[in-house]
Amino acid sequence: SGPTGPDDGAAALLALDRAHVWHPYGPMPGRSEPYLVESAEGVRLRLSDGRELVDGMSSWWAAIHGYRHPALDAALAEQAGRMSHVMFGGLTHEPAIRLATELAGITPEGLEHVFLCDSGSVGVEVAIKMALQAQRARGRPGRSRLATWRGGYHGDTFHPMSVCDPVGGMHSLWTGVLPVQVFVEAPPAGWDEGYAARLTDTIERHADEIAAVIVEPVVQGAGGMRFHHPAYLRVLREVTAAHGIFLIFDEIATGFGRTGRFFGADHAGVSPDIMCLGKALTGGYLTLAATLCTREVAEAISAGEGGGLAHGPTFMGNPLACSVALASLSLLRAGGWATAVPDIESGLKRGLKPLRGAHGVADVRVLGAIGVVQMDRPVDMAKATAAAVAEGVWLRPFRDLIYTMPPYVTGDADVARITAGIAAAVAAT
Ligand code: PLP
Repeated sequence: SGPTGPDDGAAALLALDRAHVWHPYGPMPGRSEPYLVESAEGVRLRLSDGRELVDGMSSWWAAIHGYRHPALDAALAEQAGRMSHVMFGGLTHEPAIRLATELAGITPEGLEHVFLCDSGSVGVEVAIKMALQAQRARGRPGRSRLATWRGGYHGDTFHPMSVCDPVGGMHSLWTGVLPVQVFVEAPPAGWDEGYAARLTDTIERHADEIAAVIVEPVVQGAGGMRFHHPAYLRVLREVTAAHGIFLIFDEIATGFGRTGRFFGADHAGVSPDIMCLGKALTGGYLTLAATLCTREVAEAISAGEGGGLAHGPTFMGNPLACSVALASLSLLRAGGWATAVPDIESGLKRGLKPLRGAHGVADVRVLGAIGVVQMDRPVDMAKATAAAVAEGVWLRPFRDLIYTMPPYVTGDADVARITAGIAAAVAAT
């Protein structure tokens, strides 16, 4: 029987959720007790019981303008009134053309050609396919491995999983099935000449078998929320260029201002050969990712076997998503992010500083609109989340990390509220 009243309705829906709906990395039937969201506006999520939570997660890095932004709502409605989707084989449309052109204009120099697909993981698959196809087309089929540093996260489909942190990471379940890649230790926060030399040396030793190096620039996200010195990106650029290896930057989490620069790559002034964007691309409204590459990569692929890139998802270039992405880019172009992100950074630093040295806290770090408290022990996710919710804040701690990446429209008072929520989650741990 269906839901009967407002309260019974929520309880009944949650029972159905547990019975039928998979959640990330969850068992079936569900054991956890998710919070039922009814609506979201600005930086607030409204739960079915009427509670309002300040969103400290931007729906996993994506909702940079908050929820129900009038410009994004309008772009979506306007495009829905025209055409929600058409196949991209043999057809094209203005939203995709304009978005690809704009992305080519705002990304680091040399990135010209844009593949529009439907999720970050698929965007990374496409990046890897581009690198492998281009190496084959250049007559180097032996270059079939990827190199990366440990501590990374690039998605949940198979090739991306193979370049995530191999030990203790989310994908250790798949050891023995995944392609075996070349790993070097995770990059340190500060500049370390010795590390830079080991990085170069590892890549040089395997140069003949590596198609591409793939990394998240400046911030490693879901693999551990670590920050590293941007100069390692220049080291990677040099060694890859010297050996004909492609450099892939996965900016799915770091793109669009999150780290205080428009792209992570901008901290180092480095242009990769291939770059992946997703998450905040549509301001968190719709699922869309973009993989960009240089003319050199595109020409190699196009001259090779098959004469084109071997990929073509059904929802490629979805017009609704492209239109919302254009509206999001237009908001970003207006420039508010450039002051909002440093303001959030100051608020996070202020609010999280007292947690340095607190019981159980191993490290506190802030970069741009990202604040991280690393504990010296695993966090009880349900307990820590509940403690933050009791403070009116939505957080999603994992492993030993309690962290936030709020929407850019979060004001000072709400940033303070988020840091109070983090303090409550720390205390509950
Ligand atoms: N790459 C990075 C850096 C990510 O942070 C993520 C998602 O967390 C992905 C790739 C995968 O994106 P999606 O979850 O949209 O498949």
